[in-house]
Amino acid sequence: MTWPSSATLLAPLAPWFDGNRRELPWRAADLDAAHPDPYAVLVSELMLQQTQVATVLPYFTRWMDRWPTVEALAAASDEEVHKAWEGLGYYRRARLLHAGAKRIAGEGWPSDLAGLRGIPGLGDYTAAALAAQAFQQPEAALDGNAFRVLARLLGLEGDPRPRARELRDWLRPALAALGPSRLTQALMELGATVCAPLPRCGGCPVADRCAALRLEATGRIPPARPRAQPATSEFWLAAVEAEDRWLLAEPAGQGLLAGLWRWPSTPLPETGADAAAEPIGTYAAAELSAWPSWTQVYTHRRERVHPLRIRLQEGFDAPAGFAWTDPGRLGELPMGRRDSRLRELLPQPGAAPLLPVPLGLLLGGLRRGGSPSP
Ligand code: SF4
Repeated sequence: MTWPSSATLLAPLAPWFDGNRRELPWRAADLDAAHPDPYAVLVSELMLQQTQVATVLPYFTRWMDRWPTVEALAAASDEEVHKAWEGLGYYRRARLLHAGAKRIAGEGWPSDLAGLRGIPGLGDYTAAALAAQAFQQPEAALDGNAFRVLARLLGLEGDPRPRARELRDWLRPALAALGPSRLTQALMELGATVCAPLPRCGGCPVADRCAALRLEATGRIPPARPRAQPATSEFWLAAVEAEDRWLLAEPAGQGLLAGLWRWPSTPLPETGADAAAEPIGTYAAAELSAWPSWTQVYTHRRERVHPLRIRLQEGFDAPAGFAWTDPGRLGELPMGRRDSRLRELLPQPGAAPLLPVPLGLLLGGLRRGGSPSP
């Protein structure tokens, strides 16, 4: 089947967006000119990956106040960047944004899509979103929202993602005719507010030309993507305290938790397993208290976290990869959501643990230089 002209099909989106757009701090007022601050678009695009607009707004404002230019961000330390990102999750984005800022501060902004694609953190979608919104280049940014809108408008059966190249080529004339920045944002806005997974077709500016609506197929186009049930792991997360200092795992250089400080942890032993690798008597002087458990949900896994405080009468030499940390510095250290949640619990009184705590496993492992589980 031949698709209709993109410029004609999508034409109503331009006036609709001009009249309905949400005012967001990274959006330029003039959608017909190059964006006055491409760096603001870059920051917003990285923050908005996997995170909703309402959550991003205060982070974006604080970030731009603190680092208003790409050069300012390039000069920041890794620890400052991780601390400012704390709570947004997916910290890899912060590291890539920082690396991207260093690249741009040194070499300037690339002039085309291929150059943008070479900046750390910019995949096909983000590079095209930046090209269109910051530089008015007719590059098609296809994220989940855009795929859904286009699949419905064109009546595409099956998963539209393998047709990305075809869709990009098809969109280009519309981007050129209606304005790259305007149309890119209009598609994003329509997907976020009207053509959502449960579409509100009554308020849609392109309802009169939508194939899925005509075919009464909005429920099956695009098909839902099967989601694997995330695996759950369960463990103790321990704030170990001795001589008025806290024992923490230092940030790893790479991996999901790079740049983040962590509390020691150990998996909950299997039922019936010997919980303590060393006799519990070794740690008889330890004071234990626990707080209510919680479930931490990530994209591909869940963690059942049992938070614990262990106060020791005497410290021991921090094993490799760990450091004893003064309480005054504790609040300044960047931590992921799970570990910062335990840090926030510290001023609150705990209670006696309901589950048996494998102190031998946890502290014995630390004394022998064991590393915490993820
Ligand atoms: S008519 Fe409905 S399904 Fe079609 S594009 Fe508009 S909101 Fe989406």
